[in-house]
Amino acid sequence: MILGIDLGTTNSVCAVFKDGKSQLIPNRFGDYMTPSVVSFEKDGKIHIGQSAKTRAALYPKETVKAFKRYMGSDKTYKFHGQLYTPVELSSLIIKHLVEDAENFLGEKITEVIISVPAYFNNIQRSATKQAAELAGLKVDKLINEPTAAAIAYGLQDKPEYTDFMIVDLGGGTFDVSIMEYFDGVLEVKASGGDNFLGGEDFTNTLIELYLTKARIRSKQLNQKAKQKLYYSIEQYKREISTNRPLVIEPFLEVKADKVEITFDEYKQACEKLLQKISKPIERCLRDSGLEPAEIDEIILVGGASRMGFIKTMVTRMFKKIPRTDIDPDLTIAVGAAIQAGLKAKDKDLGDIVLTDVSPYTLGTGVVNDNDVYNSQGLLFDPIIERNTTVPASRVKTYITVRNNQKQVQMEIYQGESRLVKNNIKLGEITVNVPKAKAGQEMVELRFSYDINGLLDVDAHVPSTGEAKQITINNAPGELSEAEIQASKDKLAKLKVHPREDEKIAELIMRAESIYENSLEQDRAAITNALSQFEAVLERQDPKEIERVAKDFNDFLADFETNGWFD
Ligand code: AMP
Repeated sequence: MILGIDLGTTNSVCAVFKDGKSQLIPNRFGDYMTPSVVSFEKDGKIHIGQSAKTRAALYPKETVKAFKRYMGSDKTYKFHGQLYTPVELSSLIIKHLVEDAENFLGEKITEVIISVPAYFNNIQRSATKQAAELAGLKVDKLINEPTAAAIAYGLQDKPEYTDFMIVDLGGGTFDVSIMEYFDGVLEVKASGGDNFLGGEDFTNTLIELYLTKARIRSKQLNQKAKQKLYYSIEQYKREISTNRPLVIEPFLEVKADKVEITFDEYKQACEKLLQKISKPIERCLRDSGLEPAEIDEIILVGGASRMGFIKTMVTRMFKKIPRTDIDPDLTIAVGAAIQAGLKAKDKDLGDIVLTDVSPYTLGTGVVNDNDVYNSQGLLFDPIIERNTTVPASRVKTYITVRNNQKQVQMEIYQGESRLVKNNIKLGEITVNVPKAKAGQEMVELRFSYDINGLLDVDAHVPSTGEAKQITINNAPGELSEAEIQASKDKLAKLKVHPREDEKIAELIMRAESIYENSLEQDRAAITNALSQFEAVLERQDPKEIERVAKDFNDFLADFETNGWFD
């Protein structure tokens, strides 16, 4: 059986085509969404998915998420002395999903269809394939995420040319694509977005609004309190509506006012974010060469597209109500599974991919004048933006920052963060400049990027004519047989928690996390319940454990809702 997988930045979802329809698959916790998170214990034990996300609250430094952003790059993550690539981490997620699917279906999965963003280039696509192969699976095909969303909405059944737009606002990424369908072929006409914009930014905006109104300074909050703040406000964000204002009683261990936040206040605070969303939509439309009225259908995808004002904004821009009838978190997985079904009936849809774009932003580091204490390091200054059509060549000019500066050293980075320390350093280039006052000498830095992932960097000093050039091969290349085997051996050494154990481990970690966030009586209650639960575990009776685990889960859920959010 072919499993359709939406391998997401924040969450992953899978589904199969069964009995003539797409069927979503619940994971071991009974949820359709499995967090794309991996957490490493010291002794080689790992947690994947929900338990890794829970563990992140206790051990953030041992936990990794959002690695999809770096697929196809040579970024590595280090845990307990061992390096892991985004491909290896993704393979752990895929394996975990497949294990849950096999358990649910009672059937072996040998093939998968995995969704990838439309703007993924060949390097990122082959990295995704490698991840599945490392997990011992055959990749039947990769499907563009917007294509999968379109299929979920049945656009393949349209009789004539159809142009449509998919707006995908997830937790931390925003993708917009315009596609055209005709006669069995879906073509990506334009794609755009922002790799660092999503629901999290709206949560952060609501947090700021809350702190200002409650008269709390963020300096007053320790790490744990900040975590509780984030968790609680995220929930409030989901509740906010035009009907009645949010009323938030003090819930942190600092002096705070009771706060009321109306929908309009929140919306106003989000104005900048909404503009950041509308820009890529407009640009994508321009790139596609279509007029707003020519877009036949608009589909909203991603959890954060549930926010009412996103729908309103899109409706205003296009004078058309976007479709939202399928759960926006599950749409892509539903589509991937339908694709598997179409394939079985030999009605496979052709998928024309837009790969001639730069997958990452490429740029250099510049001094941050506002960073008086130099705590943040250099600011990232983009030269070739993500999603620029390649081949592309762009030049920017930089001036000297010190009097009598002899050399200018430019560092070259790839990534989407404002700060270079969060991006990947690709190399550096140094040129000599004549002595002069700060700001009087300059260097022209030209980046030329081609479809094979080769980046040429030229630095030129106009006043002397000095020029230097370096070429950076940005494609990590295919793994050799020996490298694949080495990766498999490394991953095989990791001890994955058995399915049942993992639920128990997750409950215990949740209890510990709640304990850390509680005080006195609550702590006593949690300690008491946890010891009773552990006593049952000692007796090793699976039936009894199952029953008690359910009660313990309800007990913790009560704390999470009553203790934390009210
Ligand atoms: P999830 O749907 O859990 O993957 O979350 C992705 C993003 O969507 C997160 O930033 C959530 O806060 C956001 N989100 C999910 N549901 C809602 C909702 N009902 N209202 C507002 N934001 C939401």
